[in-house]
Formats: sequence, structure tokens, C-alpha cells
Amino acid sequence: RFRPVCRRNERKEGLSMIKIAPSILSADFANLERDIQRISTADYVHVDVMDGMFVPNITIGIPVVKSIRPTTALPLDVHLMIVEPGRYVEQFCDAGADLVTVHVESDTEEKLHDAIARIHAKGKRAGVVLKPKTPAETVLPFLNEVELVLVMTVEPGFGGQKFMADMMPKVSAIRRWIDEKNPGCELEVDGGVDPVTCKTCIAAGANVLVAQYWGKGEPAEIRKVLSIVYRISVCISLLFSLGALCCPEIIMSIFTNDAEVIAAGCRYLTVIGWVYPLYALG
Ligand code: ZN
Repeated sequence: RFRPVCRRNERKEGLSMIKIAPSILSADFANLERDIQRISTADYVHVDVMDGMFVPNITIGIPVVKSIRPTTALPLDVHLMIVEPGRYVEQFCDAGADLVTVHVESDTEEKLHDAIARIHAKGKRAGVVLKPKTPAETVLPFLNEVELVLVMTVEPGFGGQKFMADMMPKVSAIRRWIDEKNPGCELEVDGGVDPVTCKTCIAAGANVLVAQYWGKGEPAEIRKVLSIVYRISVCISLLFSLGALCCPEIIMSIFTNDAEVIAAGCRYLTVIGWVYPLYALG
């Protein structure tokens, strides 16, 4: 079974478990090979497959997955937005998918268990996906047998929609269940994830981010923004702690019951506290 591994060169950045999966939907389809090579610093290539039935849009199918397979060494994360996905999972595995995810709304529970088993029989990783209106609990019957859970943060069907921050309690609940029942399972978010909303997703417990933009912002950009924010937060919190330690009034207020001294300590803490809103912003 797949277990996410902390990469040596990322360990020092403190973002080791965060993976970026740019969606093929944002690529230039006339130049797929060029665009896929542009995202060689990503962790997955996210392939959105729509059938015009499960969602009101049609994208790509098995021949395209087969064609892009030789153009990249990155794992292909194939997100099936199709009815009765069990009909096609084996063909997607044979075409070169490394991870195949099926919607919990797309078939009966029994048939979905069967689809997952058939993905595993091909030696590939399997996952389940939840639409925004689907309750978190729906994932529970599948949680022990999948390697990834994907929570949609927009209604599936079209790219470029606004991120639904109200999906975060669902992400947090599923993160808790994953940590309890299947800690190796990854938790992915898909829809409207950008360098701003990604922070909300990571805070809620997601570790794989489907990036909806391509070319103008490489996946490395998201990682760069995150690591800058992290470093600024550490510097400001260090300054804040040093300021408190260097102020005798604050130190004295710890060891006394004298109201005057405590009040003085509080005043100094308030002054240092001007720095705190900056820290909180980070
Ligand atoms: Zn997707």
C-alpha cells in the first residue's frame, strides 16, 4: 500500500507533506506535452475526466491519458467524473493512470467497492471523491480501503469557479477520521485552490492541492509563497518572544503579586503586542 514519504530536499522547508497536483483542465490542449513538462516540479498531474452525464461537461478520455503517459514521469491522478465508473477503471489503469478516483455519488456502494478492488488488482492506487453537497460521513464505508480521499471545493463540471471555504469543516472531519483509521491515506482538495485559498485547505488538514492555474504560476510558486509566509511568521514570533524576555517589567510581573508591577508588565506586553497583529496576518 502507498504511504506518502517525506522527501529529503523538502524536509527542511517544513512543508514536506504538501503535494501539488495541477489540473490538466487549465493546460493548453493543443500543447499538452509542453505544458506538462512545465510542471515538472509538481507531485501529480491531475486529469479531470468528464462524461457529460455525471457532470454537464465533456473533457477527455482514455486515449488522451495514454498519450500523455510517456510525456511525464509524474504520477497521473485521474479523477473520474463519470456515471458507473467501474465500467472503465481497468482501461484507465492500463492507459497509465497511477491513481484513479471515483465519485461516491456515481454508483451504488457495492459497485464502488468492486471498482476500488479492480483498481487495486491492477496494482494502482484508488480514491473516492465527494461533491460539495455530499456529507462527510459518506466516505466512511470506503475509508479503510482507499489511498486518497478527494473533497470537491467547487461543483464539479467547470474550471475557474470560486473556492467554497464552507467545505473546510468537511475536510477537517475527514482528516480526523483518516488520522484515526487509515493514516497513510492522502486528503486532496479540488476546485478554486490558489496561493491564497491553499493556506485555508492546509490548515483544515488537506495535503494534496489541485492547482487550477497553469503556465503563469508554476506549482513552485505556491510552495514559494507558503515558505515565505512560514519564515515571516517564525521571525515575527521570535521577535515577539525576545521582546518579552528582554523587558524586566514583564519578567518581574511573573514573580509578584504586586498589582502595580503586574499592571506595568501588562502595559509593556501591550506595546510589544503591536507586533502581534502582523504575526497573526502571517
Ligand atoms: Zn479534479
